[in-house]
Amino acid sequence: MIYLDYQATTPLAPEVAAAMQPWIEEKFANPHSPSRWGREADAAIEVARKQVIQAIGLDGGSLAFTGSATEAINWAIKGTVERATNGRNRIVTVETEHAAVLDTCDWLETRGYDIVRLPVGPDGLLSLDQVKAALDERVALVAVMLVNNEIGVIQPIGEIAALAHDVGALMLCDAVQGLGRVEIPDGPDLIAVSAHKIHGPKGIGALWIRRGSDPMPLIHGGGQEMGIRSGTLSPMLCVGFGAAAKLASERREEDHEHVEDLWITAGSSLMTDWIINGSMTQRYHGNLNVRWPGLDASRLIGEIRDVAFSLGSACASGSGRPSHVLRAIGLGDPEARSSVRIGFGRYTTTEEVIDAVNRIDAAARLQQGWAA
Ligand code: PLP
Repeated sequence: MIYLDYQATTPLAPEVAAAMQPWIEEKFANPHSPSRWGREADAAIEVARKQVIQAIGLDGGSLAFTGSATEAINWAIKGTVERATNGRNRIVTVETEHAAVLDTCDWLETRGYDIVRLPVGPDGLLSLDQVKAALDERVALVAVMLVNNEIGVIQPIGEIAALAHDVGALMLCDAVQGLGRVEIPDGPDLIAVSAHKIHGPKGIGALWIRRGSDPMPLIHGGGQEMGIRSGTLSPMLCVGFGAAAKLASERREEDHEHVEDLWITAGSSLMTDWIINGSMTQRYHGNLNVRWPGLDASRLIGEIRDVAFSLGSACASGSGRPSHVLRAIGLGDPEARSSVRIGFGRYTTTEEVIDAVNRIDAAARLQQGWAA
């Protein structure tokens, strides 16, 4: 099996598995209990917290561990509008956000909040003029992702945060696909991240919170995380997230160069007849979202069973619904249904990319009635 679905999740790094091992097999203490064992677990969690903050790379904030980035995003959005004062009841977001943002906003809309969903251009990028025009003193929060999970385009987060601050709003950045891959610009007040996208374990995310921007709690209880997020932390998962973040920081250049090499191999040399979805310049190169007019992408995925790649996104796959992101960049249903997402990264070899892309390309040609 060749794994080319790095946006859905990433393989656990061996270094991460090794760091987690003692916390799975031997060390079971509650990190919030005052025993020596508990203090040891607590200390390990604090090391992990620093490692994740370091990978985010911004000063002036703290980090709360959560059960997922989905939880971090729900918390950031609901907890910010709940805290908002002076009649601010509007959220400005983007049509191409992840479901964690869009569905939370949909739900808040049913509770009387005002949601503005900005469109993007055919390149998948926001226009800063449009962002500016949507902002005034009614806005409590602006929520924009850094790297899009479906098409890989990179939004101008620093500039958007500055515009949000000009009207006194806070800015949430979903940096799940950006962490460890591209620089997270300074500016956001709240940043959601997830361990399993950076070769860490599933079931843990985090919310970075700029000093003074604490959201109201979403999960009530013991207040273990800074008094504003409750639930016993899992040392095993926190240590795994920390080890993955440390590795991502240490290997940043190496991982970047590797992905650039794979992009050149996959994109320019092999898939000459395919069209790339989204911006060619503002994009993360570990995501190759491409279409071939007339192709039945769903059938193609079924035909190449030993390569794991995806339709528009893991979430849209199987639902039968064309991706909301591809629709937002102006693709009709037939074009969206002819698109595939190929995602690679640290553990993908050049040989795997060549083999898989050749097979995808040949199967597409056969399907179209072209000679392979
Ligand atoms: N945001 C983006 C951009 C994602 O790609 C994902 C995962 O697919 C999430 C949020 C949700 O992350 P988690 O799986 O940690 O809930």
